[in-house]
Amino acid sequence: MPVFLECQRCTACCRWPGQVRLTDAEITRLAAFKGLTEVAFIQQFTRLTQDRRALALQDQPTGECIFLEGENCAVQPVKPQQCRDFPNLWNFPGSEKFCHAVPRLVSDVEYRLRIAQVTGRTL
Ligand code: SF4
Ligand code: SF4
Repeated sequence: MPVFLECQRCTACCRWPGQVRLTDAEITRLAAFKGLTEVAFIQQFTRLTQDRRALALQDQPTGECIFLEGENCAVQPVKPQQCRDFPNLWNFPGSEKFCHAVPRLVSDVEYRLRIAQVTGRTL
């Protein structure tokens, strides 16, 4: 049976170092959600990725994501796919030490349903 990792909304993954890469479509959605033009959104909220090949969300001076407000994501309805996919569809060795998601043994059907709910993806 598959294991679904149930997010506890601890926001640790919004605070650790790294980068949230953005696709063009995500920039379009985020800009519309913030009521900005894409150019204004890019100037206000993005930076180059480390490889300088794409755009990523800026960090706050404290290192957390620019859109983390207290314990909430300010762009939750349109948050980037990278955020939606963690920790079930991507994670890294040792991430379970920082991520408080609870592992749940579920049926194949429930796994697919829950993945669709949190990521919008169809497996
Ligand atoms: S966009 Fe939202 S979910 Fe993604 S890292 Fe920033 S605050 Fe967290
Ligand atoms: S995915 Fe993990 S680290 Fe991120 S908010 Fe959920 S429980 Fe916390």
